[in-house]
Amino acid sequence: MRDRYARVINYLRFSITDRCNHRCFYCMPPDVEFLAKEKLMSLEEILTLGSIFHSLGIEQVRITGGEPLMRDDVVQIVKAFSKYFRVSMTTNGSRLKDFAEDLKSAGLQSVNVSLNSLDEYKFRQITRGEIKPVLDGIDEAIKNQLFVKLNVVVSKMNIDEVPELAEYASFKGVPIRFIEMMPVGRKNSGAVFEKEILDRLSSFELKPVSVQLGVGPARYFVTSGGNYVGIISAMSKSFCSSCNKIRLSCDGKLYPCLGSTIHVDLLQAIRSKYSHQQIIQLIQKVLESKPYQHDMNNSEIDSKMNRLGG
Ligand code: SAM
Ligand code: SF4
Repeated sequence: MRDRYARVINYLRFSITDRCNHRCFYCMPPDVEFLAKEKLMSLEEILTLGSIFHSLGIEQVRITGGEPLMRDDVVQIVKAFSKYFRVSMTTNGSRLKDFAEDLKSAGLQSVNVSLNSLDEYKFRQITRGEIKPVLDGIDEAIKNQLFVKLNVVVSKMNIDEVPELAEYASFKGVPIRFIEMMPVGRKNSGAVFEKEILDRLSSFELKPVSVQLGVGPARYFVTSGGNYVGIISAMSKSFCSSCNKIRLSCDGKLYPCLGSTIHVDLLQAIRSKYSHQQIIQLIQKVLESKPYQHDMNNSEIDSKMNRLGG
């Protein structure tokens, strides 16, 4: 599939739930209201949409949420999708210890685990979750030979920990990516931009490298110790010109961009018994509306991050 700017779209972020056992301050408020269960896609609906996206040339699917491991049928979803796609997942890691082995057997290739602090107290302040299960989950994923990357959303709360987190990643032998915080449902106060993050990493003597670890937008550097460090600068350096993705929310709405409110409702289409051809036409409509560039520096992301998946 190509959009109207001739960008090849072969990557789908697929949110399977809005539920989460953490409450990261940059993603959802403590008193967030989740969707009624019947508004979420069922397993069958997820698999139907998966086969349609496969027929349109999507090659890579990242399963996200909310927290994807909150869904009991997540292993079945991975198993079915891995017949069509290269399947990866973004998770907060808190349930990964229990799932890593089954996910690997089901065909999951890689997992991005959010790790915003190594300090128990600060981790709780940022996420309202506990750090121990996350560290155990990371170890279990590595043990099961999943390709693990760590994700850190950088804010004023954890900028001082950037070197320590990079050191931890080196010790575990896994790449780490530092992500500029985006304005979800509010102005972006507390955000830290790429320059400051890179300054904090000066002792690692980062050298730019042209590796692609997955199909996401991170730019990578190699440390003097030989580990990969990535930067995802959605705010200070737009990577829109090479954007290859579309996003499906957990209630079946397809968005052309995280910063866009334009969408089509594929779940409603399935439930209204649209034919596959009619659903494909809706998907094509979204591609036509994909903006050349997001405008998140002048606005905030209206869509709820936990429904759409970062
Ligand atoms: N629960 C999983 C997790 O946290 O990894 C997956 C869902 S989460 C919404 C997907 C990704 O979006 C994570 O890497 C998370 O750190 C990122 N994210 C959430 N809110 C963000 C924000 N305001 N700015 C930048 N990244 C954000
Ligand atoms: Fe949950 Fe992930 Fe959102 Fe944090 S970023 S609240 S872990 S969905």
